[in-house]
Amino acid sequence: DSIVYRTVYDTEKEAQTVPADSPYHGKLIGKALEKYAIEDSIAKVFGSESLGRIADEGLQIHGGYGFTEEYPFAGFYRNTRIDRIYEGTNEINRQIITGYFLKKALLEELPIREKLRNVPGILKEIDDLYYGDLLRREKQSLELAKHLTMLVLHEAICKFGQAMRTEHQLMEIIADMLIHLYLVDSTLARVSQRNEKGMPIDIQKKIAQTLSSESMYQISTLAMKGITNLLVGDALKGSLEIVESFIRRMVIPRDLFTLKREIAEDIINKEEYNY
Ligand SMILES: Cc1cc2nc3c(=O)[nH]c(=O)nc-3n(C[C@H](O)[C@H](O)[C@H](O)COP(=O)(O)OP(=O)(O)OC[C@H]3O[C@@H](n4cnc5c(N)ncnc54)[C@H](O)[C@@H]3O)c2cc1C
Repeated sequence: DSIVYRTVYDTEKEAQTVPADSPYHGKLIGKALEKYAIEDSIAKVFGSESLGRIADEGLQIHGGYGFTEEYPFAGFYRNTRIDRIYEGTNEINRQIITGYFLKKALLEELPIREKLRNVPGILKEIDDLYYGDLLRREKQSLELAKHLTMLVLHEAICKFGQAMRTEHQLMEIIADMLIHLYLVDSTLARVSQRNEKGMPIDIQKKIAQTLSSESMYQISTLAMKGITNLLVGDALKGSLEIVESFIRRMVIPRDLFTLKREIAEDIINKEEYNY
């Protein structure tokens, strides 16, 4: 829910900058909403797929009873399936995520060139970043993951240019990388914000550590897939070496089994999810 609250807040704030008496009110609201098109699509895709996974796991946990209509999970399972289809199917939303990102990259609205220029440097600098910060290891991995994503995007633009928009499988890989980046970024920001306000963060920190670790595994796999499908021969060999050096540093050494058990115990004890 860090993604949803952040995106709704940012989108609403942007919409409120539009003067109510403007003769172009509708058009300006459209422009304001468009500013967060990437984040909105990420929230839609990630939210609906998380709900689908939870309904699936919930049904499975109940075994045969989960499948029968006597218990509620069969209904949850069926009803959540539509969320991946309406409000723009998740396939189309993934095209929107990468499409808008590509547009912003080409218009230089995002500091992509800056990140790309520093691809070799970031591996050397990373140990000195976020000194003294809460969740420092996670923030360092996120920074590396951002550079790695830009590297894959750069190779994709070099190979296909604007025609990349019709390379739907590649667009999906990059969209999934961006989804994980936004997810980790939003979660780390939420925990830091709570910490600054003096609120308890014990379990929130564990959730952020677990989620960051798992996202780093996912981003690593996606980067390998992207590069392997984009390059051949010596170019592939050289790029894979760079990707592997990123992955070695991005993977966060944490005991996820214990972390997950502790999070589950807290939810069971409180009988609610309230983080
Ligand atoms: C219960 C329900 C409620 C609805 N409510 C509303 C509503 O309130 N308002 C409204 O406007 N609409 C509503 N819809 C319609 C809904 O938005 C559409 O079903 C949805 O946009 C998908 O369009 P489609 O069904 O024509 O599928 P299609 O566009 O035919 O797509 C079929 C499949 O192909 C995939 N696909 C298509 N293009 C690509 C591509 N380029 N790359 C990869 N995959 C692709 C799609 O993701 C999808 O999986 C509702 C639908 C349902 C079932």
